[in-house]
Amino acid sequence: MEDQGNRIAGAGAQIPERLRAVGPGWHPLLERLHAQLNVAVPGYRVTDVSEKLGGLRIHVTAGAQSVPDAAMALVAASVTEAAATCEFCGAVGQRARKDLPGGWIKTVCEPCHADWSVHKILIVSGAVRRRSL
Ligand SMILES: [Zn+2]
Repeated sequence: MEDQGNRIAGAGAQIPERLRAVGPGWHPLLERLHAQLNVAVPGYRVTDVSEKLGGLRIHVTAGAQSVPDAAMALVAASVTEAAATCEFCGAVGQRARKDLPGGWIKTVCEPCHADWSVHKILIVSGAVRRRSL
């Protein structure tokens, strides 16, 4: 069972299996991208879905075939959309640094930025976890 899971993960998965890698604010745009990709590249795979320096990173493969330009454009549009979407709640956001020395960078809206900066909220396994201080 575990071996099979590892093999599938190694070969890549589809977006819904990787949603937990990023915050819930980005899930709707990724679910939309998944639907679009399945039309443009049936059976597509992703080898990477992650958040890096506040931005969405996603790498799509189409097995032995190359990924069509139209599909790459869909991915690029989602990355652009994520750059203006709060990763916590999905509201309009922008890249911001935690209000701490050496703080992390995330794409956040203003209310989430305030909560995130004081460690009230964080993203764990694709969900927002809220802590009471
Ligand atoms: Zn937010």
